Amino acid sequence: MDFDERLDKYAELIVYKGCALQGGQELYITAPLQTVDFTRRVVRTAYGAGARQVTVAWSDEVCARMTYDNAPLEVFETLEPWKAERSNSMVRRGAAILNILSEDPEVMTGVDQAKIIASARASHAACKEFYDALDFGRNVWCIAGASTPDWAGKVFPDLSEEEATRKLWDAIMDTARVDSDPCAAWDAHRATFDARKAWLNSQHLDALHYTASNGTDFTVGLLEKGRWEGGGQATADGTYFFPNIPTEEIFTSPDRMRADGIVHSALPLIYNGARVQDFWVRFEDGKAVECDAEVGRDVLQGIIDIDEGSCRLGECALIPYESPIRQTGILFLNTLYDENASCHLALGKGFPDCYEGGYDLDSEQLEQEGVNESATHVDFMIGTEDLCITGIKADGSEVPVFVDGTWAE
Ligand code: ZN
Repeated sequence: MDFDERLDKYAELIVYKGCALQGGQELYITAPLQTVDFTRRVVRTAYGAGARQVTVAWSDEVCARMTYDNAPLEVFETLEPWKAERSNSMVRRGAAILNILSEDPEVMTGVDQAKIIASARASHAACKEFYDALDFGRNVWCIAGASTPDWAGKVFPDLSEEEATRKLWDAIMDTARVDSDPCAAWDAHRATFDARKAWLNSQHLDALHYTASNGTDFTVGLLEKGRWEGGGQATADGTYFFPNIPTEEIFTSPDRMRADGIVHSALPLIYNGARVQDFWVRFEDGKAVECDAEVGRDVLQGIIDIDEGSCRLGECALIPYESPIRQTGILFLNTLYDENASCHLALGKGFPDCYEGGYDLDSEQLEQEGVNESATHVDFMIGTEDLCITGIKADGSEVPVFVDGTWAE
């Protein structure tokens, strides 16, 4: 299969498996200008699949950076109603939502964090209808990566622009299992997820205890009605889709009130183009109370301070150290990829689908049940080669979950 054919297979995977696009349905794509060639392939594929209308909202991170540098803080504190309506109206019409992702990992380095946080808050508030539709299983959604010179150049700084872009494309498609029949490969991928989830859900764990030689010694509480999810998920009306391509993680939303101890990072965290590296966070009663970092301490503290819920955990994800993404040996400098290379935790919002009956509750009810609520959700990677995770049941008995960075069984 040549490179061109492979790109088309990848577009097919995104449309048919990621978005599970149905005939007559709308597709709403957000994509960076630089991905125009690939995005056009996706649009063509979507119409081939019977899409009623495909709408593309183009973005440009270079212009966005200029706005952050020059516009006053107040500009970021509100989102103009027409911008919010563009997203909100799409979910109202039942569109599938696709985010084609490509980000220069350093494009926002040095930007005033107050502006980034204000912008995240304003968008969360104005586009609540949009985000709720995704979170509560009303619309399908998918995030998938595309290689661009600005991103690839940061991942492979020693290669020429052309070589770097091509090498990142290959890595993106390798980790997305793009072969001659990627849709079949993803059906098989789903089956392994389903077996792991069934085992974890049958254990009814009350807590997880993490330890590693880097100093990690941390216990997080799990909810009685919590559920382990991973692979794909179903909308409330039963459409099965894959929200992340690639994905290797099995995850749950922990008890927002129970996390104690210290966790050390295993990989850098890239947040809106700013890097946080070699850091740790200490928790008490579910709350991040102290942190430090060799690089980007202010960014990390900024994330913790975004709102009332951003100091608490919304996700615990399990990924074996030998995950195909870790195996590439590439640090993608992007959470969609790097989170699938390593066990991680996330500060901020929890997932309704990780709570029994969660789709029937609203955010406030979920929060009362112990699923965290926040305008943000930021993953950080803690999975080292020697990470051990022990499951603790309500009666105090212990079940090994991870030993030396991978599944205990
Ligand atoms: Zn995750």
